[in-house]
Amino acid sequence: ASGYSLLRDPRHNKGLAFTEKERDAHYLRGLLPPTISSQQAQEKKLMKNLREYQVPLQKYMSLMDLEERNERLFYKLLIDNVEELLPIVYTPTVGEACQKYGSIFRRPQGLFISLKEKGKILEVLKNWPERGIQVIVVTDGERILGLGDLGCQGMGIPVGKLSLYTALGGVRPSACLPITIDVGTNNEQLLQDEFYIGLRQKRATGQEYADFLHEFMSAVKQNYGEKVLVQFEDFANHNAFELLAKYRPTHLVFNDDIQGTAAVVLSGVVAALKLLGGTLADQTFLFLGAGEAGTGIAELIALEMSKQAKAPVEETRKKIWLVDSKGLIVGSRKESLQQFKKPWAHEHEPVKDLLGAVKAIKPTILIGSSGVGKTFTKEVIEALCSFNKKPLIMALSNPTSQSECTAEEAYTWSKGRAIFASGSPFDPVEFEGKVFVPGQSNNAYIFPGFGLGVVMCGAIRVHDEMLLAASEALAGQVTQENFEKGLIYPPFSNIRKISADIAAKVATKAYDLGLASHLPRPVDLVKYAESCMYSPVYRMYR
Ligand code: NAP
Ligand code: MN
Repeated sequence: ASGYSLLRDPRHNKGLAFTEKERDAHYLRGLLPPTISSQQAQEKKLMKNLREYQVPLQKYMSLMDLEERNERLFYKLLIDNVEELLPIVYTPTVGEACQKYGSIFRRPQGLFISLKEKGKILEVLKNWPERGIQVIVVTDGERILGLGDLGCQGMGIPVGKLSLYTALGGVRPSACLPITIDVGTNNEQLLQDEFYIGLRQKRATGQEYADFLHEFMSAVKQNYGEKVLVQFEDFANHNAFELLAKYRPTHLVFNDDIQGTAAVVLSGVVAALKLLGGTLADQTFLFLGAGEAGTGIAELIALEMSKQAKAPVEETRKKIWLVDSKGLIVGSRKESLQQFKKPWAHEHEPVKDLLGAVKAIKPTILIGSSGVGKTFTKEVIEALCSFNKKPLIMALSNPTSQSECTAEEAYTWSKGRAIFASGSPFDPVEFEGKVFVPGQSNNAYIFPGFGLGVVMCGAIRVHDEMLLAASEALAGQVTQENFEKGLIYPPFSNIRKISADIAAKVATKAYDLGLASHLPRPVDLVKYAESCMYSPVYRMYR
C-alpha cells in the first residue's frame, strides 16, 4: 500500500511515530514532517490538548476523531487514563453525544440496520469489512441510559460500550461490531428534527418487531456462527426481558442492563458482607424499583443465596422484597403483575410506599433501582438505621440527579453507620472527622472481563453460573485497605487485571459446564486471559 493510504488507515497509522526505516520502506518520505515522536510523547500531547477543552462533549468529539485517525493511540489514552476518560466515552457524556448525534455526526461508526433492510439483513452484515467478529453490542435505541427513546441516535451506546470491551477487557477492536437497529422512534422531537439521521416513523411493534429481530438474530448466527457474543443494550424493559428469554437457549446472548447490573451489584453485596457481618442468607433485601435492574439483581442474589445456603431458589427469593410504582409487590397483586415480577409476589398485606415497606420488611440491605431521585429520604434512612447497626444502602439510579440519595445524605442521616455505593459517582465525604469513600456500582467492572472470558474459551451459551463466577471474582478483588475506607469495589485503576481475573473465572465455569468449545483447556486461565488481551502499543512495520 502507498504511504498516503497508510496514514489514512486508522488501524495502522502511527502519525509522527513512524521511524526513519518505516518512512523509507513504506513511501512515507515527505508525507510527514521530519520529527519522530514516541507513542508516549503523542499521548502526553493529546492528553494536554484534551484537558484544555472545558466542555465534555468537545472532549468526546476529539476522542472520536482520534479513534478515526489512530486507533492504537486512542486505546493507549483510554487504558492509561481510564478514570479520567471513562465519563467521556461512556456515561454521562456519551448520553449527551447521543442526544446531539444528528448534528455532531461526521462519519458513520458501526452498522445501521433499519426496516429498509428487511429481508436483506444477512447481506448488510456482509458489508462489514471484518470477518472475525467476537462481540456485537446491539441497541434499538428505545431506552438510552436514563434519557429515553433516542431512536437511531442510540448508536453512541454500542460504540462506547465496545470501546470499553477493548480498553478494559482487551477484546481486539477488529473483533467488535456495534449495531443499531432502527425500527423508528416515538420521540416527537427527533421526528421533527431536521438533522435526525434515523427513519422518520413511529416504532414498529408486536409481530413486525419480533420478526425483524428474529431475522437479525438468525443472520448473525448464519454469518458468524455460534461463538459470537451478542450483547443487548438499552432496549425498553418489555423487549429486553422477552429477547433475553427467547434467545438465551439458542444464541450466546447477554443483557448488560439486566445481567451485567445484577453481577456488579451482587459483587458489591458479597464484598459488603465483610463489613456487615453474617452470611448472604442472613440478609433481608428491599428494592425500590422492579424493572430490568431491580428484578435482574434480585434473581442473581437469590441464586447465589441458594448456592451458598444449599436451599432451593424458591425459598431464597422470599428473603427479597421489591417495591414498584404501585407499592410493595405482594401475593394479592399477582394476577395483574408482569411476568418478570411474579416470582417476587410474596404473601404480605399491601403496603403503599417505601417508608411503610421499610418498616414492615425491616431490610438489612436497601437497593434503589427505580430511576427516581431523592426517594431515600431522611425518614427512610433513619427507619432503616433503627433496626440495623450497619445497613447497606445502594442508590443505583442514574444519572446523578436521579440518585435515591447522595453519599453525603447517606452518611449524615445514618450518622456514619451506612455502607454506601451508588450508580453515579460521588466524591468522598467527611463525617465527624472520618473520611468515607463511596463505591460506584459501575457495570464497566463486569461486562468487559465477562465478555473476554466468554469469547476466549469459545463459549456457546451464557449460563447464570458464569455470571455468579464473574461476581465472585470481582468481590475477591476488594482489599483490606479498600474495606477500611468503606469501599466495596476495588479501584478502577486496576481494571485490566480485574478483567483478566473475571475472564479466567468465567471461562473456568464455562469449561466445567461443558459450554466451552476451545480445546484443549488452557492450564492457567489467568495467564491465558492476559495473553489474549489486546495491547495498544505500536507495532513495527518491516
Ligand atoms: P426500568 O426497567 O424502567 O424499571 C424501573 C422500575 O422502577 C419499575 O419497576 C417501576 O415501576 C419503578 N418505579 C418507577 N417510578 C417509581 C416510583 N416513583 N416509585 C416506586 N417505583 C418506581 O428501569 P431499569 O432499567 O431497571 O433502570 C432503573 C434505574 O437503575 C435507572 O435509573 C438506571 O440508570 C439505573 N441502573 C443503574 C445501574 C448501575 O448502577 N450499575 C445499572 C442499570 C440501571 P413499575 O414497574 O410499576 O412501572
Ligand atoms: Mn445500558
